Amino acid sequence: MELPLGAAQKKPGERLPFEIEGEFAAFEFSGDALAFDGPVKAQGFMIGIGEDITLEGQIEAALLGTCARCLRPARIVLRIPFVELFSRQPSDEHPDAFLFEGARADIGEMVLANLFMSLPMQLLCREDCKGLCPACGKDRNLEPCGCAKSGADSPFAALQNLLKDEK
Ligand SMILES: [Zn+2]
Ligand SMILES: [Zn+2]
Repeated sequence: MELPLGAAQKKPGERLPFEIEGEFAAFEFSGDALAFDGPVKAQGFMIGIGEDITLEGQIEAALLGTCARCLRPARIVLRIPFVELFSRQPSDEHPDAFLFEGARADIGEMVLANLFMSLPMQLLCREDCKGLCPACGKDRNLEPCGCAKSGADSPFAALQNLLKDEK
């Protein structure tokens, strides 16, 4: 994901639009294999400040994995706003800056770092996925099962345990 920075270097202080996309390999996260569904896109503005370049904008990526509740395929779209500094050399002043040489920056590392920070703890096929019943294993999205209320993750289970303790 090589972004040409020449324009920003020639016109410091100006907000210059950029748009770039790149392909990334599948990876493992929290025990789940995640693959990118299509290219990862980054777009926004670059601003030259002295020798440095600031990039600000949004990263957009679609990911395919497995729903943590029902184990069916899940697809999520992430849209991540970012502001990052690119410098020619490391400095104590900006320890978080990414480095570049010449008139181009490989922004792949920055894009992945932002993506990983924004990944949800678990992937869901949809926000209100009912998941598999821990007792009988049925997919509760397809049909309710009779044992739903005695499931270990039911709010009633905790209450029942509490009442048992008091006896
Ligand atoms: Zn699900
Ligand atoms: Zn059940």
